[in-house]
Amino acid sequence: MELSQRSAALEAAARVRTILRQHAGAADEQARVCEPGMAELRRSGLMGLLVPQERGGLGGDLSDLVEIAQVLADGCTSTAMIWAMHCQQADVLIHFAAQPLRDRLLPRIARGELYLASVTTGPSTGGHLLSSASPLTDTEQGLWVDREAPIVTGGLVADGFLITMRSSPDAPENEVSLVYADRDQMDVVERGDWDTLGMRGTHSVGLKLSGAVPRSQVVGGDGAFRTVALESMAPVGHLAWAACWLGAARSALGELVGLLRSAERPGSIDIRSELVAERLARIRMDLELVGAYLCRVTAEVSQLRAAGASLAGTATQIHLNTLKVIAADLTFRSVDRMVQLAGLSLGYRRGSALPLERHFRDLRSAALNYANDRLLTATGALTLMDRSVNLA
Ligand SMILES: Cc1cc2nc3c(=O)[nH]c(=O)nc-3n(C[C@H](O)[C@H](O)[C@H](O)COP(=O)(O)OP(=O)(O)OC[C@H]3O[C@@H](n4cnc5c(N)ncnc54)[C@H](O)[C@@H]3O)c2cc1C
Repeated sequence: MELSQRSAALEAAARVRTILRQHAGAADEQARVCEPGMAELRRSGLMGLLVPQERGGLGGDLSDLVEIAQVLADGCTSTAMIWAMHCQQADVLIHFAAQPLRDRLLPRIARGELYLASVTTGPSTGGHLLSSASPLTDTEQGLWVDREAPIVTGGLVADGFLITMRSSPDAPENEVSLVYADRDQMDVVERGDWDTLGMRGTHSVGLKLSGAVPRSQVVGGDGAFRTVALESMAPVGHLAWAACWLGAARSALGELVGLLRSAERPGSIDIRSELVAERLARIRMDLELVGAYLCRVTAEVSQLRAAGASLAGTATQIHLNTLKVIAADLTFRSVDRMVQLAGLSLGYRRGSALPLERHFRDLRSAALNYANDRLLTATGALTLMDRSVNLA
């Protein structure tokens, strides 16, 4: 993107943020997608941030993605995550869909007509990304999809789905294909509600999806989801999620500092005390570390992509996993510390002048949103393969 387009995109993000700020509390309260925020996102062109300009998109890159995700999360973490996950799915289509499918879908994404939801979690496979129990079946109408999807962010408002499926009834669970399905190609039945501690505005409901899609809607080739995941879905996800969590924690700290410096500061908090200073320093350092590491890993991934190189190298995979885990842990820890510093009325109570308790609940999900445990065990195994210890 040129500089002028970049600043236009940032201005659009700031407009969306204003709307998100007004509605974030209600989306959380009602555990519903923020409709005014989604409508403005669709109008703003930001749904097509990563779509190349020749397909009508903004032609943004991964630095734009992480910057805008932080702006949106400053308004509403849930809506920022909806947008971030949509961009993650868009990146998959941009890099792996066959040309006719790209020609059909990318202009719709750019116009804000196609919000893409993700279906990877399964009832028996849980969060294990590279396996799926439900097989694709060849039928006369096309490939038959019959999929329980226990957690689908924005599932009820999605216009299309990217779904992991076992590639055939005879294939093992780890031979996974990714298929695109338009909403009108699927029979969509709501299964179970979304009444969670946090991230309530993602309305990540359970769905049952069934219907037929043409073989041309297999993305990345039969049984080739592993490559799609390693080169696009996981890296872009980790960058964009880390940016959302960082944006939320930055927002919380900015508001806390604003309040501590104002006349509304509770008399019990002495900002000249060394204890308060030490606590603020620890919060700030956590966010500095996540911000710097996010920036570094974004640059690494961008450079590799620009060179046409794979992201599947051992060190790069370690860096991407580390980014997700430290962003999840440190942003949550920082908000936990903010609650401690702000105290019961300001930090812990619902309806306080600062939405710290909402940030606390939202950021608690970060370690679960693709379990840190899975990434830590993978990183441990990869560490044994990188004797030269290539740090980011
Ligand atoms: C806000 C939010 C939005 C989401 N949106 C979507 C979506 O749109 N689409 C979608 O498909 N999914 C979505 N998910 C699901 C998410 O990606 C994970 O799949 C899901 O949270 C994992 O469920 P789980 O916690 O049961 O963990 P699982 O990964 O299924 O693991 C189950 C348990 O095993 C443990 N465990 C796993 N691996 C290991 C290991 N190697 N060693 C030790 N213990 C291990 C875990 O810690 C956990 O306790 C979303 C989740 C959240 C929080």
